Amino acid sequence: MSDVVADGYRFDCPACGESLEVNDSMRRALVEQGCVVCGASVTAAAFTELSATDRP
Ligand SMILES: [Zn+2]
Repeated sequence: MSDVVADGYRFDCPACGESLEVNDSMRRALVEQGCVVCGASVTAAAFTELSATDRP
């Protein structure tokens, strides 16, 4: 009964197309600091919340 990704998001960079799974603290860091790959500024719209109930 281990749920490693409790609050997961998928980040899709609108500038470089990078796609990453992140947690809430990483999401906030990306919004503050920009994309880790290309440095483009990132908004909340670049994140999709992943539902744990979608997992098999
Ligand atoms: Zn990027």
